[in-house]
Amino acid sequence: MPNAKKKKLYVLCKENKPESAVVVDEEYVIQRKNDSEEVMTQFACGKCLGGEIKISFAQRDLDCKIDVVCDECGNDELNDSEVTDDAPVNNTTVYSNMENGNGYVDMNRFLGNMSMGPIEDEYYHYAAVVTDTVSVKAASVLQSSINNVKKRYSQQLKVAPDKDGVYNIKVFFDWSFYKEGPKKMFAIGVVIDAETGLVIDYETVSRYCEQCTKKRNTLTTDTINKNEFDAWFTQHKDECMKNYEGNTTGMETAAAMKLFGRSLDRKLRYKVFISDGDNTTYHALCRMNGGEGPYGNVKVEKEQMMCDYNVGYKESNVVTLLGFPNTTITNTHLELTHRKREMLTNKRKRKRDELVVNGADHT
Ligand SMILES: [Zn+2]
Ligand SMILES: [Zn+2]
Repeated sequence: MPNAKKKKLYVLCKENKPESAVVVDEEYVIQRKNDSEEVMTQFACGKCLGGEIKISFAQRDLDCKIDVVCDECGNDELNDSEVTDDAPVNNTTVYSNMENGNGYVDMNRFLGNMSMGPIEDEYYHYAAVVTDTVSVKAASVLQSSINNVKKRYSQQLKVAPDKDGVYNIKVFFDWSFYKEGPKKMFAIGVVIDAETGLVIDYETVSRYCEQCTKKRNTLTTDTINKNEFDAWFTQHKDECMKNYEGNTTGMETAAAMKLFGRSLDRKLRYKVFISDGDNTTYHALCRMNGGEGPYGNVKVEKEQMMCDYNVGYKESNVVTLLGFPNTTITNTHLELTHRKREMLTNKRKRKRDELVVNGADHT
């Protein structure tokens, strides 16, 4: 049985391979409890030589520690009595579940099929460990992307930052969302530097919190009352996943406003905004700060997307890491390509003669 206390949840990053939170350096097996019990009947106690060894399983959901004790003399020398707080198997299993786009119910369906006990409230704890680890990793990836963007502007394009140290850059903004039925549940907005194709920031906007929904369901079945719900919510508030109230059409602009609103913290000004044809987001940005826009005197300029932009999403794994498997940058990229084509086709239909077509493959 692996020694759980030695392991931590790691996020590995090998070159450009997708990053994953995994249990490192240990190979696992799933074993029947009965088999372990049977095996132990073949061993005699090393102290009294006569007693039978009894085995018990100290479980924290899927992470399990085996305790063995002699039923004759009570010898328990083999036990690693130190209780561990780490839960590598739980974290990794919940991570894999999230990666597959599954939730709490799917996870427990699997455990039920294996005749294993369900993971209940702790599920969200493990999920939080995973997202925290991933957020830290994503932050460091974004920081290195930002450094590279600044390097590109200063060293290759010979564009110096403003006096306040802020670089004026040209960006794409795009978004993708996760739907359940007809409802958009959460969305992710992404800022991509147009020069390097690197993702430099992202923001998630969620109308949904699984924990709140589950708890609210218990309210309707009278398992808990309103006061108990409120007390629970006060505790839960800080980790609530819902950060957006409003209709789904505003999700894109909500994400964009947050991203533009904090760019100066990164010493970046998204001065040129490359639009994909839909001006809703651009207009929302211009309305920020009472019509001043995100940067006061420095106005954000809009540039229409042309077909010769070739953006490569080098840091595409950042978003898959967030546990939103259906909302990857790759999807955003495809969507972007698709919209770009759609836009051109429409434009072409309208102004066939005026449009300059850059190459036959854009038809
Ligand atoms: Zn013994
Ligand atoms: Zn919540």
